[in-house]
Amino acid sequence: MKQLVFDGPRQVRWTETPTPVLTAASSALVEPVAVSTCDMDAIALSGVIKFKPGTPLGHEGVCRVIEVGSDVTNVDVDDLVIVPWQISCGRCSRCVRGQNTYCETVPAGSCYGWGPHVQRWGGFLADVIDVPHADAMLVPLPPGMDPTRASGLGDNLVDAWRSVVPALRESPGGRVLIVGGALADGGSIGIYATAFARDAGASEVVFVSAIENHRDLAARLGATAVRDLPDRGELGWFDVMADTSGTAEGLALALASGGPHSTCTCTAGAVHRRSPPTIPMYEMYMNNISLRTGWVNTRSLIEAPLSRLGHSAFDPTDIASVHPFDDAETVFAEPFVKLILTEAR
Ligand SMILES: [Zn+2]
Ligand SMILES: [Zn+2]
Repeated sequence: MKQLVFDGPRQVRWTETPTPVLTAASSALVEPVAVSTCDMDAIALSGVIKFKPGTPLGHEGVCRVIEVGSDVTNVDVDDLVIVPWQISCGRCSRCVRGQNTYCETVPAGSCYGWGPHVQRWGGFLADVIDVPHADAMLVPLPPGMDPTRASGLGDNLVDAWRSVVPALRESPGGRVLIVGGALADGGSIGIYATAFARDAGASEVVFVSAIENHRDLAARLGATAVRDLPDRGELGWFDVMADTSGTAEGLALALASGGPHSTCTCTAGAVHRRSPPTIPMYEMYMNNISLRTGWVNTRSLIEAPLSRLGHSAFDPTDIASVHPFDDAETVFAEPFVKLILTEAR
């Protein structure tokens, strides 16, 4: 079958690889219908972070079921389904606790489209995708929902939701600060977080980014968009802060802007692997500021953002450009915030 792989900065190519077959009664095979890029894909394609050449691409999308094992009961052939990017079983003690990132049945980091086990699971930009634990993994697409609207629920939309909504529930009507991506490539998580924060009743959403295009997109979704916050507290204190910047400066700004009992969620902790940022522990202690970070538990959290998407005017495709799968090699060669690749219609 055909599979799209990373080949270097601004370069992808279609390769031939063995077609997956059903290997367990609880598995399903699916084919992609709409696949969107993760912010990580955009940054890797820019060359700022490194993917290994040959890495299969695509890990958020809506797919069509083409074959199911004999034990699968929740989905059937031809169903449209959202496929969360991480492999998880739904039954182990971690999955039951909502910590599907740490599913005990697979090695840590088992997911589609990147990570240490990417060659086992492949990416969504392929003819066929193997889904284990299909009853637990696959989320049926609500009737009538456009697959291109829902494709990001496999990863970035749920990441955006968790960066603001759980903390807003602890501070109803609170003020939200979102530190956007520092690069022109990607940046969808912070922009999507703007929409979820407005939808969840934030009294104000301030979106900070040096990237003019990102500020314009966030402003269209209801944010007060600013280039930077010159001094701590100049725009008042915030109850909820989301750092999606991937920089130590962005995290510092988010933490320094927290008011009493505020919560900061960092969605980009992976970038701090080699140079840990300084954390202002004393100020956080005195103001009771919490910091959360980690991989989003996509499967465990997907229901609420999926429901909100079905009931709000927010359309994630507004910040994306949509192209047929066959154009992948061309559209990946240019910078992008978000691409959605789809079946030819
Ligand atoms: Zn991702
Ligand atoms: Zn599990």
